[in-house]
Formats: sequence, C-alpha cells, structure tokens
Amino acid sequence: MIDFGVTILGSSSAVAAFGRRPSSQVVHYDQTRYLIDCGEGTVFRMSEYDIKVGSINQIFISHLHGDHYYGLMGIISTYNLNGRTEPLEIFGPDGIQDIIEMNFRYSKSTLRYPLTVHKIDPTIALKIFENDVIEVHNIPLRHGIPTTGYLFIEKSRTPKIIKEKILEYNIPVESIIDIKNGADFTNTDGQVISNTELTIPISTPRKYAYCSDTAYHEPILPMIEGVDLLYHESTYLSNEVDKANQYFHSTCTQAATIATKANVKKLLLGHFSSRYKSLDLMKEEAIEIFENVDVVEEGKTYIIV
Ligand SMILES: [Zn+2]
Ligand SMILES: [Zn+2]
Repeated sequence: MIDFGVTILGSSSAVAAFGRRPSSQVVHYDQTRYLIDCGEGTVFRMSEYDIKVGSINQIFISHLHGDHYYGLMGIISTYNLNGRTEPLEIFGPDGIQDIIEMNFRYSKSTLRYPLTVHKIDPTIALKIFENDVIEVHNIPLRHGIPTTGYLFIEKSRTPKIIKEKILEYNIPVESIIDIKNGADFTNTDGQVISNTELTIPISTPRKYAYCSDTAYHEPILPMIEGVDLLYHESTYLSNEVDKANQYFHSTCTQAATIATKANVKKLLLGHFSSRYKSLDLMKEEAIEIFENVDVVEEGKTYIIV
C-alpha cells in the first residue's frame, strides 16, 4: 500500500503554550509532500522533524488568522535564499498575494523562483488541485473570517497484475494494458482467463480531511462522509461551548459529534487553547461520543490505512 499520512508540526490555537506551536502540518503521499497551514516557525519545525523544507511544492492556507500563516514569509524567503528554482503554489483565501507582495516591496527583495497564488473562494466546495497521485478539494468552514478546510483524496489507481500470472499464462506485454483496464485474457489455445484471476483489485481511495478553524458546522458532513482520517479543531472542552460558539471555534465534543455524524474512521483533535496544559480531559470527553479519537502530538505522523 502506498504510504499516505500526515505529520503534525503545530497544534496550538492563537496563543502558543505548553510547548505546543501554531497550526501547520505536512501531508505525504508516496514521495510527494504538501503543507497545510504555515504558523510561525514552520520552517524550523520541519527541519526539527527531518522533513525536507524543499520537498514542498504546494501550500494550502486555511485562513488569514496569524496562527495559520505567520510562517509563510519565512518559508518563501528560505526558498529564495536556498536558490530554489522549482515553482511553488499557494492556495488560500483572498489576501495572500497582497501580503507576499507587501513583504517583498518593503524588504526590497526579489523572488527568484516561480510563485503562483491561487485564490480560493471559501464559500464554494471545489476541486482546487490535482496531480498524478492526489486531488485536493476545499471545504467551506464557519469561522470569524473566510476560512476553508482541505480534503485530500488519493487518485484511483489501475489494478496491479499479479506477476506470477504473467509467467503462468505467458501473457505478452501488449495485453497488459488491456488487462489493467479490466479485460480478460485469451491465450493462444482460446482459453479465457478472467480479469479477477489476473489482477489485485483497486482499493477504495483513501481520504484525509483538515477542518480548522471552524465552529460546529454540519454542512461539512457530506464532504467528509466516511473519510479515513479527520483532523478537526478542538479549541475548548465542552464546558466552554458558549465561548466556542462566540468565537467560531469548536469544543472536543462538537468535533466528536461531527466525526460520528460523518462516519469517519478516525478523528484527530487539534488547535488547543492555551488554557489547557493537559489534554487528557479533551480526549476523555471526546471518546464518550466517538471512540477512535486521539489528541494530536506534535512531531508525530499519523498514517492513513
Ligand atoms: Zn487558529
Ligand atoms: Zn482562526
């Protein structure tokens, strides 16, 4: 199975505390890497966790509260100083282009590699990016300013042919593409060997959803239905539900309720308020509603199986 997972670089809400840092994480799929959010110090955290800073070609920003993007100029400038030549793409709500240009204008510096900023409309769910292995959709969220989550879906792969069967039935190279596309194989004696005997079936595409920051928001349910892994913000414990509603954040029990209603396989809680030193209660409350839940640990990689 192709390696698919997410490494948490930061799990704090706006005020970093107790060694937790602002939001950022790296999704990996096979050899490709994608950055979601870029809180202050993201570049340092990547090197701390042995993630090659230069391995990122796409950055997805959820919204323009500082705890989700104050590291962006750091990473853009690091690439400049490292002599990067590969193109970089940044996806996010309106304003990112202006912020980058203003920084370059006042520092009188010049960007030396191609940088494209894709403005995302946070009110509409669309496929915003794809390459050979993965596609990314945005998820409209409910927060104090325009905010979007991101859904990573692995692309359907063609079925694999079982090597031993190629030898056993003496299958010529020119028949292999047809078999991968679902055809049966007929040998020179006229014997038909069914496709199911020759191939390993395609598994259902795996999915990872990132939903931060957001108030409790049921309209996201259809988009995240059945995802293998959901990262949902969990700024507060359940007794602070009024505060969560007031500031467009979620409690751990609200996150767990979303996970239950969306039938996700596993839930990761993150974006913790600085008022909580221990996160034990956060997990205890959530697990009452949704069993397969973890509070994220920074530096840890969660594999999607
Ligand atoms: Zn935040
Ligand atoms: Zn926010």
